[in-house]
Amino acid sequence: MAPYHLFHATVVRIEDISPSFRRVAFTGEDISDWAHGGRDQRVKVLTRSAAGTLPLDLLGEADWYGTWRALPDEEKPPMRTYTGREFNFAHETAHGADEIVIDFVRHGDHGPASRWVGQTFIGDEVVLVGPSARGAGREGGIEFAPPASARRIILAGDETAAPAICSIIEDIARSGALEGLQPVDIRAFIEVPHDQDFLPCAFADHPRVKLSWLGRGDGEHGSALSPAVKNTVTSRVLHECSIMCESSCIAHSDSVQIDVAIDPFDFTEVDVDSEILWDVQPPSDSVDGPSCYAWIAGEASVVKGLRRHLVSELGMDRRSVAFMGYWREGRSEIG
Ligand SMILES: Cc1cc2nc3c(=O)[nH]c(=O)nc-3n(C[C@H](O)[C@H](O)[C@H](O)COP(=O)(O)OP(=O)(O)OC[C@H]3O[C@@H](n4cnc5c(N)ncnc54)[C@H](O)[C@@H]3O)c2cc1C
Repeated sequence: MAPYHLFHATVVRIEDISPSFRRVAFTGEDISDWAHGGRDQRVKVLTRSAAGTLPLDLLGEADWYGTWRALPDEEKPPMRTYTGREFNFAHETAHGADEIVIDFVRHGDHGPASRWVGQTFIGDEVVLVGPSARGAGREGGIEFAPPASARRIILAGDETAAPAICSIIEDIARSGALEGLQPVDIRAFIEVPHDQDFLPCAFADHPRVKLSWLGRGDGEHGSALSPAVKNTVTSRVLHECSIMCESSCIAHSDSVQIDVAIDPFDFTEVDVDSEILWDVQPPSDSVDGPSCYAWIAGEASVVKGLRRHLVSELGMDRRSVAFMGYWREGRSEIG
C-alpha cells in the first residue's frame, strides 16, 4: 500500500457548479507526486485550526497522524474526508500546474469543512493527505473494487457520493469495460438536494449506463434514494444477475465459491449512532464470483436501510457490496 503523504496545497480555482456544490482546485509544489487512483480516491483535507494555524511542521513527519492527534484542540486543524474528483496535469490547466479537484457539498456553517469552503479564496492554503507516488505498491484510499466476475454494477449515494459515483462511471467507461464480449452494465442513483444539482457526468448517456439523479427537495435524506434503489434492485434483478454469469450473487445458492475469509451471509446490524457503518470487502480476482457488485455511500442511516434491504431481505452476497455510511446527520466527523 502506498503511504499517505501530506501535501501543502493552495486554492487555484473556485467554481460554484450548482446551488449545493462548490468545485475547488488545489495545486502545490509537490502535487505532481500525487498518485491519483481515480474511482473513489479518498482525500483528507486539513484546514486552519481555531488559532489560525496550519500544521506545516507535520509535512514529512512519519507519524504525522499521532502528532496531529496529540495537538491541543485550539491548535488542531480540522481534518475531513473528501473524494478526488479529478487530477489534471499541468498542460491541461489554465494556470499551468498540476491540480487536484474536489467537489465540496455546501451544507451551511455546521461543520468546519463546509464553513471553510463557503469562505475560501484563491491563494488560501490547506494541507491535503493523499496517496504519494513516492511510495511503493498499490495506492490506498480506493474502496470501489468489484470482483473480476462483476458484470452489473449498482452505484447509489447522496450528494457527498456524487463525485465518487461520477468518477467511477467515467473510469469504468475509459477502461473499455462497457464494450467487448462481456461488457459491464452500470445502474447508478444519486440523491441531491435540488434538481439544479444534477451535475455533468461523462459517459452517463452511454447505452450501458443508466444514471438517475434524484432531487430530494423538501424530503428527508434518503427519501428519494431509498425507494428508487429498492424498487429497482429487486430479487428478480439479482436473479437475472446470477443467470448472466452462470454463478450466483444471491444468497441460498450452493454454487458460490468463497475465496475470501468472510461469511457472505453473516449480516450484522450496525448502530450508526455509536459505530461507523463501513462494510467493504477486499477485491477478488476470481472470474467465478458474484456477477453483481454494489457500491453504496452517504448518510449512515440511509446506507444502513439499503444494506438491510440488499443483504438481509434480498440475500445479496456480502462479498459483492461495499457499504459506506460515512456521515451521520447531527454528528460531526471526528477530527
Ligand atoms: C470516503 C469519503 C468520501 C467523501 N467524499 C465527499 C465529497 O467528495 N464531497 C463532499 O462534500 N463530502 C464528501 N464526504 C463527506 C464529508 O466528509 C462529510 O460531509 C463531512 O462531515 C463534512 O465535514 P464538515 O466539517 O462540513 O461537517 P462535520 O463537522 O463533520 O459535521 C457538522 C454537522 O454537519 C452535518 N453534515 C455533515 N455533512 C453533511 C452534508 N453533506 N449535508 C448536510 N449535513 C451534513 C453533520 O451531520 C453535523 O451535524 C466524504 C466522506 C468520506 C468518508
